[in-house]
Amino acid sequence: MKEEDNPLFSDVLIVGAGFAGIYMLYRLREKGFSAAIIETGSGVGGTWYWNRYPGARCDVDNMFYSYSFDEKLDMEWNWSERYPTQTEILEYANHVVERYDLGAYIHLNSRVISARYLDDGPYWLLQVEDGRQFSSQFVVMATGCLSAANLPAFPGTETFSGRLYHTGHWPKEKIDFTGRRVGVVGTGSSGVQVIQEVAKVAQKLTVFQRTASYVVEAFNHRLTDEDRAYFKENHRELRSAAKETFGGFSNIANDQSALSVSLEECQQKFERAWQAGGNSLLVSFNDLVFSADANKLAQDFVRDKIRAIVKDKETLQKLIPHHTIGCKRLCLGTNYYETYNRQNVCLIQLDETGIQRVTPEGVIANGTEFELDDLILATGFDAMTGALAKINIEGRDGLKLRDAWAAGPRTYLGLMTHNFPNFFTVTGPGSPSVLSNMLPTIEHHVDWISECLCYLRESEVTVIEADLDAQDTWVEHGNQIAAGTLRYTCSSWYLGANVPGKPRVFMPYIGGMPAYRKICENVVSRGYEGFTLRA
Ligand code: FAD
Ligand code: NAP
Repeated sequence: MKEEDNPLFSDVLIVGAGFAGIYMLYRLREKGFSAAIIETGSGVGGTWYWNRYPGARCDVDNMFYSYSFDEKLDMEWNWSERYPTQTEILEYANHVVERYDLGAYIHLNSRVISARYLDDGPYWLLQVEDGRQFSSQFVVMATGCLSAANLPAFPGTETFSGRLYHTGHWPKEKIDFTGRRVGVVGTGSSGVQVIQEVAKVAQKLTVFQRTASYVVEAFNHRLTDEDRAYFKENHRELRSAAKETFGGFSNIANDQSALSVSLEECQQKFERAWQAGGNSLLVSFNDLVFSADANKLAQDFVRDKIRAIVKDKETLQKLIPHHTIGCKRLCLGTNYYETYNRQNVCLIQLDETGIQRVTPEGVIANGTEFELDDLILATGFDAMTGALAKINIEGRDGLKLRDAWAAGPRTYLGLMTHNFPNFFTVTGPGSPSVLSNMLPTIEHHVDWISECLCYLRESEVTVIEADLDAQDTWVEHGNQIAAGTLRYTCSSWYLGANVPGKPRVFMPYIGGMPAYRKICENVVSRGYEGFTLRA
């Protein structure tokens, strides 16, 4: 099928209009490809379009959680806070779309339900829920790592007579919790943010906790003109220094073992990192995610912080986390632990039966019914594979991606999957993605894919596909590195452990961005090693 047969034909179709899809569209159009985005939501922004819950904001210093591809964009945009709110980040996403005139190529309100590869072309046929069909030679899935909500099947949920929300599918209108009895299930990053905010206005807030999180103080603040001027004047150096760090963050890792210094010095370094705010704590030594003994020092440091804040002894015991710090994603909070000193906040540590039932009036847990007006599920996402699994994706000979990934996702570099030709994933499983600052990582992937498509066009190659051997070697390499870290030691969403029945496979690549970037460069310089290219 070609453009003349189908007006909805493009060289490249992109699924998803978050930061990945928007930048992919920009790059492809700049390079002269016809390209369009298909997006479920009624607006762009992805994560920042859907997660409108009170308190939602980013946890990476704003200047580094922004695009770097155009210096002018950096110079024009003025962030207002160290960790900007969802509203501000969404404004930024909309600004980028307007500034580069991308809106006309984005089909909103369009959920892709299937994608099928047809060898005679070759082309991909994408079916949208409303019946429209789009086709293209290449497909880029920019469907997000954290975009498919994890909705636990609590018995009786449909009977609840109050208001029910999931943080990742928050309504557009403002939801007021003033004077209401609110329940929150989940104490990960979303739960922490929503709990801090809702507690300020609710008549009573009941938090249902399965696992206590490590929450470090964010030390968010408004930015001054001097802060902004400093970044703008030094943005090249700052961004390139961040690029060389393991995760593309602004804080430079200390190259010293926590076990090589005295306890006193260790505490001082932790304290300095704590005061710096954000995720500095985990990079204050080089072995915190590798050595159990080093990690224990950081755990104890945070536990002491919690002990110094929480007044009620029983609540304190429930809030003390017991797992490896950094094994689950570190949460950033603003007076999170102080929130539990409020009279209107009650913490329920779920027993092994979890949430037993949702009733019309509330929730039954630990054998007791808690009456609620509103229930907020901050229960996270079917991460990395969830959004793709919802689409019926068929590659060569009708092979379904769901089946190919039944025992866990298998990709080459997180970019392509064997038997799925011309089908790319941005920040897919097998890439550093969620272990990094996502904006530079997205930019890296998009640049790699667009350069690859230019190369194919110049070389008159019509099909690119990951080789099975290269894919197997990559998956094995990823598993080996992950097994050597402490990230394997808890039930995290990185491992798929939060979704019942999901295979336990460490999904992101844990070798760090600089190493990963080098590997991707080498693959290109060796003529797309590990890929088969066909005319
Ligand atoms: P998304 O922003 O998830 O966009 C994917 C888009 O694809 C969505 O709009 C979705 O509707 C669309 N889509 C999915 N399936 C289909 C389909 N079948 N058909 C059509 N459209 C579809 N990362 C950081 O680095 N720092 C942070 O501080 C940070 N904070 C976060 C806070 C929250 C609350 C969450 C949930 C995530 C956060 N992340 C953060 C991760 C965040 O997801 C990424 O930073 C980034 O926004 C991902 O962009 P994306 O374009 O890859 O995916
Ligand atoms: P999450 O980290 O997976 O946390 C989900 C929470 O819900 C956990 O406490 C989990 O407990 C609990 N839970 C899940 N299923 C449950 C069940 N059936 N019964 C009871 N409790 C249940 O999800 P998230 O908080 O939405 O965060 C996901 C990721 O998004 C983060 O790790 C981060 O990458 C990103 N994020 C970032 C920010 C930010 O600060 N910028 C904000 C939000 C999200 P267990 O721990 O026991 O599984």
